[in-house]
Amino acid sequence: MRLISAERLHRLATTIVRALGSAEREAAEVADHLVRANLCGHDSHGVGMLPDYVRMARAGLLVPNQTLATIVDHQAVLVLDARRGFGQAMAAEAMRRGCARARETGAAIVALRDSCHVGRIGHWAEQCAAEGMASVHFVSVADHDALQAPYGCSDARLGTNPFCAALPGEDGPAVLLDMATSAIAFGKARVARNKGLPVPEGTVIDGAGRPTTDPTGLVDRHEGALLAFGLHKGSGLAVLCELLAGALSGGQTIAPHHTKRDSIKNNMLSIIVDLARLGDRRTIAAEAEALKAWIKGSPPAPGFAEVLLPGEPERRSLARRSAEGVPLDPRTLADIVAAGETLGLARAALVELIGGAP
Ligand code: NAD
Repeated sequence: MRLISAERLHRLATTIVRALGSAEREAAEVADHLVRANLCGHDSHGVGMLPDYVRMARAGLLVPNQTLATIVDHQAVLVLDARRGFGQAMAAEAMRRGCARARETGAAIVALRDSCHVGRIGHWAEQCAAEGMASVHFVSVADHDALQAPYGCSDARLGTNPFCAALPGEDGPAVLLDMATSAIAFGKARVARNKGLPVPEGTVIDGAGRPTTDPTGLVDRHEGALLAFGLHKGSGLAVLCELLAGALSGGQTIAPHHTKRDSIKNNMLSIIVDLARLGDRRTIAAEAEALKAWIKGSPPAPGFAEVLLPGEPERRSLARRSAEGVPLDPRTLADIVAAGETLGLARAALVELIGGAP
């Protein structure tokens, strides 16, 4: 495991995305997003995604420098088609338009469809929060094999369908809940496989539907499935993410009549609310702070060192990793360098960017 600074990772990501053909601004947006995911502790959605992006772009399943097509623009409703554009750039533009509309009308509903991987969903809630907007995001994953077994199923029928919601605070979101509806994100199983570690109990089933802690079957051979979090309740939220994001946006759901080409397409339904239109921002913020203090004042339960609120682990990781660097395993680094080489980038230059051979 090697600690690599955010600056180095940013240069590495920018170099690879530029080599895919992205213009400078798009490459910067993708790199900003990936490195922030690493800094927030979500390595599953950080620079380790680059080999997948290279594979998809080379297969024509990710289109650099794409622009959003407006399908519906009616009062508070925007339906936007990303036409397989880089999710980090497409979602950023969709959120900019959604926040601008919410500032006019009080609230906006943005249905983004057919985007390549939009990454860490919390990033989009943070963008909205920075504009003084509360937001809720339902996301589905299409054009990819199912990975999640809904409650009672013995095999995968859904994607990991993340859900995210946040309320703005003084300095970024006051609270930010951002989670896969599977018990763990698929990328966490990939990270565990790369590190040679087991996944937590109760998160994965094998090809016969039996519980397992070995991630290799799922990651390397696509056998078995991730379980939904929270039994029937989490499973129900995963189904609603599929329908609210996939069906409402006009993007495809994971239902088997759609062909799958092994890419990662996301559909995202975002509800964006301008706090200033609901009431006094400071009163809402004070209420949020009082509630947070009340919850955190609970004596920690046995086995817990302290009570944390959604978004706190990411804030802490961001502070620590910004100072110390991001720990990355040799396999992840080797895969990124190999992906860069397929684009004609010199191995020596890539190795120099990460500060030495993987
Ligand atoms: P996670 O389980 O690490 O965290 C989920 C939520 O729980 C977060 O809001 C976090 O702040 C909170 N949390 C964590 N530990 C806590 C604690 N001890 N006390 C209180 N709250 C706590 O996240 P995950 O489900 O593994 O998801 C990881 C990332 O993967 C997310 O950013 C998600 O958006 C992303 N994702 C993206 C896609 C996609 O297709 N684009 C698919 C799935 C997941």
